[in-house]
Amino acid sequence: MAVRVRIAPSPTGNLHIGTARTAVFNWLFARHHNGKFILRVEDTDEARSRPEYTENIKSGLTWLGLTWDEGPFFQTQRLDRYKQAIQNLLDKDLAYPCYCTPEELDQMREQQKAQGLAPRYDNRHRNLTTEQKQTYEAEGRKPVIRFKIDDDREIVWQDLIRGEVSWKGSDLGGDMVVARTAENPEDTFGQPLYNLAVVVDDIDMEISHVIRGEDHIANTAKQILLYEAMGAKVPEFAHTPLILNQDGRKLSKRDGVTSIDDFRKMGFLPEALANYMTLLGWTPPDSTEEIFSLETAAQKFSLERVNKAGAKFDWAKLDWLNSQYLHEMPAEKLVELLVPYWQEAGYGVNLESDRPWLESLTAMIAPSLTRLADAAQESRLLFGRAVEYSDEAVSLLKQEGVEAIVREVIEAISTHVNFDLDTAKTIIKQVTKSQKVKKGLVMRSLRAGLTGELHGPDLIQSWLLLHQKGLDRIRLQSALGEIKS
Ligand code: GLU
Repeated sequence: MAVRVRIAPSPTGNLHIGTARTAVFNWLFARHHNGKFILRVEDTDEARSRPEYTENIKSGLTWLGLTWDEGPFFQTQRLDRYKQAIQNLLDKDLAYPCYCTPEELDQMREQQKAQGLAPRYDNRHRNLTTEQKQTYEAEGRKPVIRFKIDDDREIVWQDLIRGEVSWKGSDLGGDMVVARTAENPEDTFGQPLYNLAVVVDDIDMEISHVIRGEDHIANTAKQILLYEAMGAKVPEFAHTPLILNQDGRKLSKRDGVTSIDDFRKMGFLPEALANYMTLLGWTPPDSTEEIFSLETAAQKFSLERVNKAGAKFDWAKLDWLNSQYLHEMPAEKLVELLVPYWQEAGYGVNLESDRPWLESLTAMIAPSLTRLADAAQESRLLFGRAVEYSDEAVSLLKQEGVEAIVREVIEAISTHVNFDLDTAKTIIKQVTKSQKVKKGLVMRSLRAGLTGELHGPDLIQSWLLLHQKGLDRIRLQSALGEIKS
């Protein structure tokens, strides 16, 4: 059987982490089986759907490397197909118009509640006579279309992640609405609803496997009935576990980030995020292997190794993965990714005119980066931001002999025209000798003076970069001020 899977986001918001993770699993499954991955935009909710969200979803999937083979298809362009399917259900007497008013439905639910029953539609308009229908029509009532659900039916499927799942027809809330009331007086019914449209699409697009979040399990039960009613083959289903926060609740807006854009802005690399998402619920056959590309994961991917239990979102793990990718990346590529973060911090960088300096800076700070956004803080001193001396740095600067060291370094800097890494090393040696101190003290004094800290990235490299911007002497002068204060 040809494998055809799809991701079917609704463009009512930016690409969500849950949707993206579902897309990852679908993509991996398609690639593993040499199948097709299809993008379908479920935009029938016209009030909430927006073209900019569709764009965001497309660009987010592309950014993550989740390229699709067919589509995007848009449900709003397929409305006639859904109407035709609804008409077929009506013709076969598998669906019927229901004229209940919202008030009647409310009243019905109130009564059920008062009797301690779960709210459901009681199928009261299932067998209306032609006269009854005419009376309602004459009253000006507009029907919705309901699909008949047999209460005695047990719906069973072999879920490829969860094993056998069974659902009672009586737990599906009664006959379900498949089309809203008509807005146009000439139409018999109006907007087709989700469960109907999905099934029509999945049939027409020959979807072989429906892989989606477990929050759709009850929909699956309803949809299986619709496949049967339409005389179509039921696809395989696989319901992926939800993504949970640290408290074990569904990851939501309250957790700060939910959209792929948020992760991008925070400075996660697409490769790292895609890698992390493959591990959110899937365990590779060799579970010690954690860093891999989507292509590598696809070779090993199987739904059997997707867990049933919810997947806890682990920031530390994502950070760790991201740092691994960052540390591996060549400086000439990384620098391009850092520019927007420097610009946002107001550093006014120009990659074209200043590439060598920016690349050296990148190579120097790369080992201390976890997220791209860290670059702003990690390089602020190199971009001339004011030094804030730590207490340790101040006490070191005030130690006996340090002032003389700093003064001698300032002098030495002015005597060297061609300043490079060797010059810096020579100056340190010379000052160590003439001040009769340990080399370590010279190094610490310099670091404290240049950066206001006693720890940080490579000192000689930092000094050189500062020197190239004419900042080293200024820094050391202000360190002298600090010593005197
Ligand atoms: N539009 C639905 C959603 O975004 C798609 C569900 C499905 O995959 O069938 O949740």
